[in-house]
Amino acid sequence: MASTHPDLYGLLGYPLGHTLSPRLHAAAFAWANLPGTYLALPVPPERLDGAIAGVRAWRLPGLNVTIPHKTAIIPLLDGLTPIAKAIGAVNTLYWEGERLVGDNTDHAGFAETLPDMRDRTVVVLGAGGAARAVLAALRDRQAGRIHLVARRGAPELLAELAPGGVAATFDDELAPLLAKSRLVVNATSVGMDGASSPLSAAQLAQLPLDALVYDLIYNPPVTPLLALAAERGLATRNGLDMLLGQAAHAFSCWTGVRPPLEVLRSALPPDMMNP
Ligand code: NAP
Repeated sequence: MASTHPDLYGLLGYPLGHTLSPRLHAAAFAWANLPGTYLALPVPPERLDGAIAGVRAWRLPGLNVTIPHKTAIIPLLDGLTPIAKAIGAVNTLYWEGERLVGDNTDHAGFAETLPDMRDRTVVVLGAGGAARAVLAALRDRQAGRIHLVARRGAPELLAELAPGGVAATFDDELAPLLAKSRLVVNATSVGMDGASSPLSAAQLAQLPLDALVYDLIYNPPVTPLLALAAERGLATRNGLDMLLGQAAHAFSCWTGVRPPLEVLRSALPPDMMNP
């Protein structure tokens, strides 16, 4: 019988300059031996409702969602998974019967890359969609105190998702928070330009020597923050494994099968491999 919908998947965001998602999902469809074409679908904010009407009209089986739509899309959906509801941001759409549902696979993609977090004090930088997923994942992985540093301060966000820590701004004295932190997560977009860092070398020098500096940015693979942290002798990690993990979870939402991360990793261009 002919399919009632096109095997078309894609990423809704704007702009969509350098996305790796089409490569990752093409590799996953080939590995799973399933039909499926995954496209970058740039959609400016004023056309998001039209795009979702199109998703419904064609009953497109699966979409990812990225900046700037992760929160704005919520009212256009029929429901959310419990984790997407708790985080308040969506990066994956799938169908549950006739309902178009929003999920958040950034959460699991990040959580799975963490070391044992019990009782580790953490500083999270940023208060956007990715920071929300990070805070929820750290809480679920039973991290110790979680402090949040954001441009405009975000005490409500911290109280909602990971209560107990300090909410600060980048202009505050961060030394007391950094001195006890064994993980710093950059969930801001600072560093995507390859030139700026959300923390200075002097601030990184306040971290204990066994701290891990984790930047969610994966392009460039070594951000200025990670370069400064490595100079100080700290362990570093970029956002590549989180990217692969969230893609694997999304693919499994749509197809019921989960591709190994190595299958996705093999689809990356050589200059995107972890340093
Ligand atoms: P977002 O919702 O737009 O949030 C961006 C955050 O960065 C906001 O908190 C924003 O502050 C902050 N910010 C921007 N410019 C800043 C500056 N000059 N100084 C201080 N803070 C600044 O984006 P997102 O979805 O959370 O993504 C954040 C980063 O995570 C991006 O680099 C993205 O590529 C990365 N990410 C990676 C993965 C992965 O799989 N590895 C997944 C998701 C996201 P305001 O709130 O004050 O505007």
